[in-house]
Amino acid sequence: MIPLVDLKSQYLSLKAEIDQAVLAVLASSQFVLGQEVATFEDQFAAYTQTRYAVAVNSGTSALHLALLAADIGPGDEVITTPHTFIATVAAIAYSGATPVLVDIEPRSFTLDPTQLAAHLTPRTKALLPVHLYGQAADMTAIMAFAQQHGLVVIEDAAQAHGATYHGQRVGSIGLLGCFSFYPGKNLGAYGEGGAITTNDPELARKLRMLRDWGAEQRYHHTLKGFNYRMDAIQGAVLRVKLAYLAQWTRARQAVAARYAAALPALGLRTPEVLAGRSHVYHVYAIRVAQRDQLQAFLHTQGVATGIHYPIPVHLQEAFAELGHQPGAFPQSEAAAREVLSLPIYPELRPEQQDQVIAALAAWARQSSEA
Ligand SMILES: *Cc1c(COP(=O)(O)O)cnc(C)c1O
Repeated sequence: MIPLVDLKSQYLSLKAEIDQAVLAVLASSQFVLGQEVATFEDQFAAYTQTRYAVAVNSGTSALHLALLAADIGPGDEVITTPHTFIATVAAIAYSGATPVLVDIEPRSFTLDPTQLAAHLTPRTKALLPVHLYGQAADMTAIMAFAQQHGLVVIEDAAQAHGATYHGQRVGSIGLLGCFSFYPGKNLGAYGEGGAITTNDPELARKLRMLRDWGAEQRYHHTLKGFNYRMDAIQGAVLRVKLAYLAQWTRARQAVAARYAAALPALGLRTPEVLAGRSHVYHVYAIRVAQRDQLQAFLHTQGVATGIHYPIPVHLQEAFAELGHQPGAFPQSEAAAREVLSLPIYPELRPEQQDQVIAALAAWARQSSEA
């Protein structure tokens, strides 16, 4: 079976370096934050072209703290899309603010800026675009709208490490950028992890306090904070892996180019990369009307696939309180019905890519005969 992601082959390719870094943490007995995490923060800030990166214990925590650092809370409204991982909307709810959903622009699967004005109210405080699958949202239009209406922009860059928008790295465009280092992400820890990026020194200071019980000095709690600190082992693993991220991204893009060269001839709709954007292919999502049948067929051919995501947030039971019915966000609902994620990861070998393409070709033959 060709898996959707393969974390083991990446570990084996770096085993000596990773093991040494982890053992050094064990020997240091500095298990939480400390030098390994601080070094990773400096390197990740440089990578994202920002002044500060604040490491936390998950991408969800990064989103939660970014919202709090921007003074967003009860009574405020934060705009995001329903076609995202649940964490984006959950973090808004954690802050006490109200999530306001806006449909996606279907080619990029990201927040449609032309629909923002219709959802603006006097309570709107922030925009939370998601750089879904590894491609940036339409940040020119989103930043312009935010500036015009005095809104904060927080980027959910959990799937887009290193992606650029007109040359700018995601996470450096809005006031704050939020990243996840969940193991399966493009830069993955060996456990949970996340980070917030910003160019603002006051926000960075506040974020460092919020992640560690609101204190700069131990037992002097200025803010009501959290235990959202990053483990030193994760900092050490991420520091090692960050050095390979650029080459891994190129490898993902090479796989995507291979799929893009083969799939259109099979009648399959490949992801679009819009002008001025680079795609880092956290997810390679094709769109197909007979999605569930294709997924089942590929399974019989030894090709694992995924669906990101089968139910948009507004139709999730957990967010029934938002009061939306089916039909509320037609583009997000169509995407939920039609997207299918093919295997993509830096270690996916050419013969495995061939096997995926051959399986899709067999599907195309079968469908044309039917
Ligand atoms: C993974 C992800 C998150 C949450 O990150 P965790 O580290 O799993 O908490 C948030 N938003 C998006 C778009 C994600 O893909």
